[in-house]
Amino acid sequence: MSDCIFCKIIKGDFNTKFVYEDEKIVAFDDINPQAPVHILFVPKVHIVSLNELEDTSLVKNVYEAIKQVAQKKGINDYRIVLNTGKDAGQEVKHIHFHMLAGRKLNWPPG
Ligand code: AMP
Ligand code: ZN
Repeated sequence: MSDCIFCKIIKGDFNTKFVYEDEKIVAFDDINPQAPVHILFVPKVHIVSLNELEDTSLVKNVYEAIKQVAQKKGINDYRIVLNTGKDAGQEVKHIHFHMLAGRKLNWPPG
């Protein structure tokens, strides 16, 4: 999708530093971090949200990537957030998983 900010990041248009990359997924720091660690895990294929995801095996790949990054960074306590749809707070319409860590996280979330 030519006007999708995450597709542009994946293409390398902004020279974003990836903290993780494999054939299906990239991960990079959120531009507006909500915790000391705030990493976005983004499938390379343009899919709007979980509602549009047909091959759910991709979720397994994402969680494997998350686990690898967590282990590499020595992070044991973290939260994964998948905002789906406007009322859930999804602003970027390209599926992505937030990894939040590095502080005590409140529950329930807002
Ligand atoms: P969501 O509200 O779940 O759609 O999350 C979108 C996230 O993308 C927000 O946390 C934004 O701060 C983040 N974001 C938007 N543009 C960029 C960008 N260019 N680079 C990194 N993160 C971004
Ligand atoms: Zn996209």
